[in-house]
Amino acid sequence: MSEQLAKIAINGAGPVGALLAVMLAKKGYSIDLFESRPDSRKTNIYQGKSINLALSDRGWKALQAIGIDEQIRQQAIPMYCRIMHDEQGQLTKLPYGKDNQAIWSVSRSGINEQLIDLAEQEQKVDIHFDHRLNQLNFEDNTAVYLTDGHHQVIHQSDLVIGADGAFSKVRRLMQELPKERISYSLEYMPQSYIELTIAASEDGSHKLEKNALHIWPRKDFMLIALPNVDGSFTCTLFMNHQGEISFSSLTDAQQVDAFFQRYFSDAMPMLEDPVNDFLSKSASPLCLVHIYPWLVNNSVALIGDAAHAMVPFYGQGMNCGFEDCRILAELVELHDHQWPKILDAYQEERKDNCDAIIELAKRNFVEMSDLSGEASFLLRKKIEAK
Ligand code: FAD
Repeated sequence: MSEQLAKIAINGAGPVGALLAVMLAKKGYSIDLFESRPDSRKTNIYQGKSINLALSDRGWKALQAIGIDEQIRQQAIPMYCRIMHDEQGQLTKLPYGKDNQAIWSVSRSGINEQLIDLAEQEQKVDIHFDHRLNQLNFEDNTAVYLTDGHHQVIHQSDLVIGADGAFSKVRRLMQELPKERISYSLEYMPQSYIELTIAASEDGSHKLEKNALHIWPRKDFMLIALPNVDGSFTCTLFMNHQGEISFSSLTDAQQVDAFFQRYFSDAMPMLEDPVNDFLSKSASPLCLVHIYPWLVNNSVALIGDAAHAMVPFYGQGMNCGFEDCRILAELVELHDHQWPKILDAYQEERKDNCDAIIELAKRNFVEMSDLSGEASFLLRKKIEAK
């Protein structure tokens, strides 16, 4: 690879790939951004569902670097505290920090689409939807994309960046290289998850306190809810895939109804058809990924979930991917566009930090589902004793 790059291909136009395309185009590079799915702005791939995530400081810093932070903030809801709901429906509030510090609830599709809009406005970015990476020649960076399941498009670039998520094709192709010594692990968590909804009140207001992340901690499982701007909440039920109380053990409507009535009595009247949702949706797995190195031949690199998928209990997966982008863009300047140096420094700077966040995220299940319940119990006792 030449030290000065002409063309960069980014595989995956999720939040991380789209942000990176904008950042590198602003540094003067020509970017081809490939996405296997259709353009979500034109097709209804999210089926009208609001799915949200928590954006925190490391995410905001990256958005600030391209000047889109204020635009995103207008559609975001600050969550100043977490509110724990116990089995009797009693609430305990724990602030996230001092001086009104908050994490922010943002729409996942909204932020992705705003970043794609921005990428599209960059003259040097070409976006190719419906292009699924199928093969990659690591000697000359020639990639083969399938456009309608079988029609092949060939594309050559100086650098390929895999931003194609937790089950990254770039990463899988890297692992198949016979001469590379790539260490890799993918660990499934015992928990899976389904998404449920609390609709807005008739007047459009939120049925629960709006500026909070709500948690129903039940030790081995938990329900959480994050607010949306339309007055609804997106809830996520995390529980074991198998075992005594699990997605596999609750199989009929009566059992599921009894489960929600017993453990989530205050949420039950607000949830939209939770029994039917529980029985009809298949629970999604949660996994975490470690891989090293993140680079091959200094001309193929991984970023975001492709490099470090983590479980969502710390709310840091996308935030961490955004931080990857910000650091990489800063290194472009620091190393004066000398790519072998940039990529080495990127991997050196990010790998240990991302490993640490993967571990913190894994441990945070116990914090959220168990310790937060215990803490709220102790806090209430203390208040009552005063
Ligand atoms: P993705 O979002 O997975 O995007 C990858 C893109 O690549 C997709 O558009 C995909 O279609 C495309 N692609 C895949 N294969 C190919 C191919 N072969 N060719 C071309 N394109 C391809 N993170 C937070 O920061 N805060 C949270 O609160 C939070 N909550 C979460 C809650 C849940 C339940 C889950 C599951 C995750 C949560 N996350 C959260 C994590 C966050 O969703 C991910 O970290 C983030 O989406 C990663 O972005 P990405 O762009 O790296 O990957």
